Amino acid sequence: MQRFVHTALPARVVFGRGSSGTLAQEVQQLGLKRVLVLSTPGKAALAQRLAKQLGPLAAGIHPHAVMHVPAAVVDVALQAVAAAQADGIVAAGGGSTIGLGKAIALESGLPQIAVPTTYAGSEMTPIWGLTRDGVKTTGRSTTVLPKTVIYDADLSDALPAATAAVSGMNAIAHCVEGLYAPEVSPLISLMAEEGIRALAASLPRIVRQADDKDAREQALYGAWLAGSVLGLVGMALHHKLCHTLGGSFDLPHAEVHSVMIAQVTAFNAPAAPDAMARIARALGSSSAAAGLYELATRLQIPQALRDLGMRADDLDRAAELATRNPYYNPRELTRDNVRALLQAAWEGTRPA
Ligand code: NAD
Repeated sequence: MQRFVHTALPARVVFGRGSSGTLAQEVQQLGLKRVLVLSTPGKAALAQRLAKQLGPLAAGIHPHAVMHVPAAVVDVALQAVAAAQADGIVAAGGGSTIGLGKAIALESGLPQIAVPTTYAGSEMTPIWGLTRDGVKTTGRSTTVLPKTVIYDADLSDALPAATAAVSGMNAIAHCVEGLYAPEVSPLISLMAEEGIRALAASLPRIVRQADDKDAREQALYGAWLAGSVLGLVGMALHHKLCHTLGGSFDLPHAEVHSVMIAQVTAFNAPAAPDAMARIARALGSSSAAAGLYELATRLQIPQALRDLGMRADDLDRAAELATRNPYYNPRELTRDNVRALLQAAWEGTRPA
């Protein structure tokens, strides 16, 4: 057996339909007395409902989270935290809301409870991001890792099926890259394979029937596993490319992940046979890359960068940006092989 090092992250996970009803108990369990509830403007009603449920334990709501955690939004949120004399944060929403909670935690040290409503997985990671002057910086700190995560599928039932599909593919991408990460351990492999299996089984059911409650819960379970994997390993080419495409070409986050994951898997396949075998097995396919492409087809989501608004003229610059600084990837990267990969992704070619 191969040697491995596994470093677990400390987080309490409460999973199950209706579990957000225990939020007050979870706040008290952390010894908190006045928590500020964060959300995006679109999820303000959820923040309001949770604050009402918390009664005197709530210091108010701050429904102003936006995508990519702009520094100006964090500054305003920190002022709101101070004005409310909050001693903790509840972030109810997707990666943008939890990202704001993390930025607050990084600056103030306040503990965060995350109540995720998408499958992005940020709630299980110590990764923070902050966008200043158009440049997104990311880092890792256990200070930002939520102390408690409440997974209540009742809150993700309203996620439109098309959004659930791309958000779920984003989660699958965490599992795929976890399987060939240098930090991979037997436990991470188990979580990643099971995460892909749970998501690949549930997402097509959600697309077929949006109110399939069992599938919704299974997808959330897969998202928990995927987020846990993301929190434990460093990511490689796929996440780097998606970061570049989203940040420099303003393409939508989860949709880019959905297009890229089959292509990057095909690219890395020769260099990561064990990971590919696990991915293929989880998908019930004979090929990892083709299985991911088939899944995206069944989910009826965009399969090509050109369908997301990427211009062919920008592919050279994207390849240059994505290979400018060295980083880990199982297969060696050159400007030319990444350019060819981007061409296939732009066209949405079916992997061989
Ligand atoms: P998001 O949080 O921006 O949410 C997308 C939109 O969906 C928002 O307008 C939100 O109000 C709405 N929404 C959320 N839940 C809903 C629900 N249940 N029903 C209906 N609408 C709902 O998107 P996301 O995909 O969750 O997160 C993406 C962001 O998270 C990116 O900025 C990404 O970089 C970041 N992220 C960070 C990490 C990390 O570890 N730090 C991990 C994954 C993603």
